[in-house]
Amino acid sequence: MDFGLKDRSVLVTAASKGIGKATALGFLREGARVTICARDAVTLEAARDELIGAGGGQVFALQADVTEPEQLAALVEAANAAHGQVEVLVNNAGGPPPGDHSSITDAQWAQSFELTLQSAVRLTNLVLPEMQKVGWGRVINISSYSVKQPLDNMMLSNSLRLAVLGWAKTLANEVADSGVLVNTVCPGWTDTDRVSGMLQQRSAASCATIESLRKSIEAKIPLGRVASAEEIANVVVFLASNAASYMTGTAIAVDGGAAQVV
Ligand code: NAD
Repeated sequence: MDFGLKDRSVLVTAASKGIGKATALGFLREGARVTICARDAVTLEAARDELIGAGGGQVFALQADVTEPEQLAALVEAANAAHGQVEVLVNNAGGPPPGDHSSITDAQWAQSFELTLQSAVRLTNLVLPEMQKVGWGRVINISSYSVKQPLDNMMLSNSLRLAVLGWAKTLANEVADSGVLVNTVCPGWTDTDRVSGMLQQRSAASCATIESLRKSIEAKIPLGRVASAEEIANVVVFLASNAASYMTGTAIAVDGGAAQVV
């Protein structure tokens, strides 16, 4: 199937590692021109080189923190200059910190609001007018299966990712007549540095080994394993493609069947 993504200008944020990097690679393999960003310049440059090595094609990388509005404006301007007006935007970011009702501070709520909701809103507002003008565009948000199944001790993620869904669905309806499709991908447990770090922390805080913690997670997933980042990226690339032309306003779990409510 021809996904129709060759030479499309794609912006994937938070893409020096994990799901973002795998997504950038997925688009490169379709012949798209890809812009990536992350906060750390050294990791970002290493990711750009790795992506070019693995996927070939054109990768433009710019250091940017998605919680900084001025850096977002500079990022979009640079992406437009490097690869043409952004036609596919993948809103990705790091996740909010864990915590429950008694431990989360006002500052953490405010920071997580900026990271999870406002970064996507601001970036989308920057690229949307041009997408509407040309009558074609894709906005795809990376969320979590916690929007289907709230996770213990993840109060910030469980709350703010639902705000993203509300915004995305409303926006999808508002822009549907201009050829811009807005969808959200909701990964379950995925093999990235984030998950390795989380398992290390949990192991250090208990007597359990990393291997036993991983096995207990996998035991709750019907497919019996965590996802690879590529398996999440595959769905993002599909949603950006012409093959997904009748999909907008959706939130798709890619979680091996883990969410109990879909
Ligand atoms: P990761 O830690 O492997 O990679 C995160 C990337 O985001 C890195 O490139 C990092 O540099 C970048 N980043 C973080 N904060 C940033 C900021 N403020 N500005 C710019 N870049 C920033 O994480 P991941 O596992 O790939 O997760 C990506 C997203 O998917 C997160 O929101 C995470 O919560 C969500 N998610 C992950 C899983 C999982 O199991 N891995 C499951 C559900 C949801």
